[in-house]
Amino acid sequence: MNKNGILVVVSGFSGAGKGTLVRKLLEKYDNYSLSVSMTTRNKREGEEDGVSYFFVDHKKFEQTIIEDGLLEYASYCGNYYGTPKDYVKKQLAQGKDVILEIEVQGALQIKKKYPTTLLLFVTPPSGEELITRLRTRNTETEEDIMRRISRAAEEVDSISKYDYLVINDNIDECVDELHNIIASAHNAPIRQQDLIDRLKNELDILSKGE
Ligand code: 5GP
Repeated sequence: MNKNGILVVVSGFSGAGKGTLVRKLLEKYDNYSLSVSMTTRNKREGEEDGVSYFFVDHKKFEQTIIEDGLLEYASYCGNYYGTPKDYVKKQLAQGKDVILEIEVQGALQIKKKYPTTLLLFVTPPSGEELITRLRTRNTETEEDIMRRISRAAEEVDSISKYDYLVINDNIDECVDELHNIIASAHNAPIRQQDLIDRLKNELDILSKGE
């Protein structure tokens, strides 16, 4: 059994539905905690400070970088986004699997620093579906939507660096698929080093006839 939780990154193109997926995953299963990111982007209608994001100005964000308060950070479509360190560390220590809903650059930084991180990439079934979802949610200007589509075109090349690619076609099925992948990932040897070390010790002793 793993005492600590695992770090799970959920990335995907803007508009892939990761926000809804992650919300439903947390509603349905109680072994997850969601990391709340810090950002310099403007608050959208319905978003709450400290819940959706910690909304800060550039000065505060840069100060947090200097103080080494972020696990990772990246610039995305003209704004900074980053993961505050303390909350994530506390939740992992309490045995929670911590979900980071972050973009590709940040995901790859995290994987490099913490190789046991599980990287999941969520995509809609097609590019057409992606642009339709972005337009339907009606939260960005057409210019911003096109920036997000260009960014998606760049992000495609990084998908192969992820551990799993999940198609978000049916949301409820996708939630269960994510949960099953995360549950199985706990048993990957890379996340079972404590057990492997214990077995090694025990078998060393037994093999010496002690
Ligand atoms: P949005 O502006 O649509 O809320 O987020 C834009 C992108 O930034 C999304 O892909 C989202 O997953 C990503 N993002 C949100 N928080 C973080 C973070 O803390 N770090 C990084 N690297 N990306 C983030």
